[in-house]
Amino acid sequence: MSAQREAGMAPTHRVLILGAGYAGMAAAIQLAARVKRRGDVHVTVVNAQERFTERLRLPMTATGQQVAELSIPKLLEGTGARFVHGWVTAVDPAAKIVRIDDERVLHYDTLVYGLGSVADTAAVPGVEDYGYTLNSAQDAEVLADQLARLGSGTVVVGGSGLTGIESAAEIAEQHPHLNVALLGRQEPGAAMNPKAKAYLQSALKRLGVQVRSGVEIVKVLPDAVELADGESVVADVFLWTSGTRVSPLAAAAGLTVDERGRIVTDAALRSVSHPQVYAVGDAAAIRQGYGVMHGTCQGGMPTGVHAAVSIVRAQEGKQPKPFRFGYYHTPVSLGRHDGVVQFTHPDDSPRRIYLTGRIAARYKEKVTASPWPTYGRMKTMPASGAFWPHGGRFTRVREAG
Ligand SMILES: Cc1cc2nc3c(=O)[nH]c(=O)nc-3n(C[C@H](O)[C@H](O)[C@H](O)COP(=O)(O)OP(=O)(O)OC[C@H]3O[C@@H](n4cnc5c(N)ncnc54)[C@H](O)[C@@H]3O)c2cc1C
Repeated sequence: MSAQREAGMAPTHRVLILGAGYAGMAAAIQLAARVKRRGDVHVTVVNAQERFTERLRLPMTATGQQVAELSIPKLLEGTGARFVHGWVTAVDPAAKIVRIDDERVLHYDTLVYGLGSVADTAAVPGVEDYGYTLNSAQDAEVLADQLARLGSGTVVVGGSGLTGIESAAEIAEQHPHLNVALLGRQEPGAAMNPKAKAYLQSALKRLGVQVRSGVEIVKVLPDAVELADGESVVADVFLWTSGTRVSPLAAAAGLTVDERGRIVTDAALRSVSHPQVYAVGDAAAIRQGYGVMHGTCQGGMPTGVHAAVSIVRAQEGKQPKPFRFGYYHTPVSLGRHDGVVQFTHPDDSPRRIYLTGRIAARYKEKVTASPWPTYGRMKTMPASGAFWPHGGRFTRVREAG
């Protein structure tokens, strides 16, 4: 019998959170704040860096702009959660252990898996050799150095999704002497309503970004990219922003994953194959009434909070509630002084209302700056982080049969 049981105490429940990104941090702070006074739940957070990566600001980092240094261990101070700095190399759900940097082993009773996603550099030959990415702050800093050294020339941004658009705009604004081209399959702002999309495209034009849509990059060379029709486009610097890929650790661990390697969850965000594992953020395939959620910060943070609340409910012998989330906006910065905010229906389809110009830029900045103060508030008032739109009829999943 353990000393705890002999003393009539409940045994300690070890919760291990992998990844301190937007979702993992939300889970860690929410859980630590809720169990602080209980003493029977130990929270440990593992992350590759001590510094919190504000991914939403990586296009700023990539253009040499200063962003705040946000320390994960400092934020966790006083919460009771332990921080482990290291790289997760394996998850063993049968033994309930996780390996860090190969040689360290951490045991858990409940795992929260929030290792995020990165741009899919394997999708096109040559990207891994010659392309820059915004996968981490370090990658963004390497690109910033290269752009600062480039006296003249062409920067090609591959991928006309939101990361590509924001990056192209930021590079064009911060480095007006460089030619910037944005290449992708879809038109920039394709998911927006026609007026918002037109504004976005005119803003890119004003910044001097040459947009080419309907093109497929098939190969990246040291100084050019090749398109599907055989055309070669000069690229002194090539930034790849397209597609996402998740860590192979979940699949290697035998967890049920979707075709993109994301952990398939039940309605309560638990792995369908291993219910003692919760999956949050970009690393999770979470089905809602409108389909599987796509990776965003706005949806990722609620998943972390929900997992934390569910873990507390389980400790109290209650059933976890189903997770429901409806999108509400797509804010896009177009340099530091311009932007477009497309308000959306819960399934992420565009509504008629949108903002443009300075007010949209200020809105986007508020959104980008909001996670850190939100975590800070949650330390003392966990409920303050537990509000988000549930999506109404859009997220009601009908039971099969
Ligand atoms: C340039 C860029 C701009 C974006 N802009 C927006 C935006 O404007 N709005 C929006 O909603 N979304 C945006 N996104 C998407 C958003 O950043 C992601 O959806 C969000 O970061 C997902 O949160 P997460 O916690 O799942 O993953 P992340 O925030 O990526 O966190 C994962 C964490 O896990 C760590 N990690 C990964 N593997 C390991 C390992 N093996 N061992 C240890 N640690 C590990 C990482 O270092 C990281 O700290 C953007 C993404 C990028 C790249």
